[in-house]
Amino acid sequence: RDYRWCCKVIKLAPIAKVIKEKFGNSTVLSIVGQRRYESLARARSPRVWRNRWIPNVIVTSPILDWTALEVWIYLLMNKVRVNSLYLKGFDRLGCWLCPASELAELELVERNHPEMWNTWSEYLRKWSEERKLPKEWMNYGLWRWLSIPGDVRRLLDRKVLEGLERDDRGRGLVVSIEGRTPEILARVEVSKPIDTKALVEHLKPLGSVRIEGESIKVENEFGRVTFYKAPNLSIAVEYYHSYEDGIKLLENVLKALLRSLNCVLCEFCSIFCPNSAIKIHDNGISVNENLCTHCLKCLESCPVVEYLTILISGTRSP
Ligand code: SF4
Ligand code: SF4
Repeated sequence: RDYRWCCKVIKLAPIAKVIKEKFGNSTVLSIVGQRRYESLARARSPRVWRNRWIPNVIVTSPILDWTALEVWIYLLMNKVRVNSLYLKGFDRLGCWLCPASELAELELVERNHPEMWNTWSEYLRKWSEERKLPKEWMNYGLWRWLSIPGDVRRLLDRKVLEGLERDDRGRGLVVSIEGRTPEILARVEVSKPIDTKALVEHLKPLGSVRIEGESIKVENEFGRVTFYKAPNLSIAVEYYHSYEDGIKLLENVLKALLRSLNCVLCEFCSIFCPNSAIKIHDNGISVNENLCTHCLKCLESCPVVEYLTILISGTRSP
């Protein structure tokens, strides 16, 4: 899967926000010009679908079965003005550094707009040098994926694949479970300082939150969680029913921690919240506990949770 977090944060979140402001909770029909011949994923697309990132919208494409030739005949017959980049060899236009681009399209960008391409290329070069990534990461455009798809992996030798593991873009949290009974004890590696105020806001959707001295406690019907920040971050989960419930609760508090460390203020959580309990501020989010019903839609709709991984080791049952 290509690494298109940007599509969600820069394109779909603003669209979803405008639709919510204009139409509230009504169902909206969106008509797009998507075609089956554009990609394998689009070839499998049904005639009518929903986009999981835009609530209450039904999408359809009347030209789903059109070929490129039919599109061009239509445009020429109707004397429609077209973007001049189509005449320079591009057949799909979007952001010029889109990770969904083919290598040939990126070469066209470099040829037509070297000044733009050089800025991006310099940024990629610095990133790859800092992490000592193999030269293939840039030469084959491997930066387009967070995890390299199977058909591309098959073309790379083992050494290159091992080198790619140093690419830490998708690494969120590394967690090891050290105690399992009577409570789960997890040690968590975090690469940034924890902002207690932000973490408390992100934990509120999970249950009631309180600060006791240096620790933060969250409680709901499945158990009680305590964050100990010193000397290293550890999380204790006292589960009320089953170990599996405890692990699920731990996963959710880890997602909340991940969001608090990496929130990009995209607003998806506030758009998806059915109770308007989330406000977005310049420096983070706030959650109104009186309105929150703990549905967790905010957690499920957050691109930070979707794109950053939480590696947990030692989850086997006690
Ligand atoms: S917490 Fe909300 S605003 Fe922040 S990245 Fe996630 S969805 Fe976007
Ligand atoms: S989406 Fe659900 S859990 Fe999140 S703040 Fe809104 S009501 Fe609470």
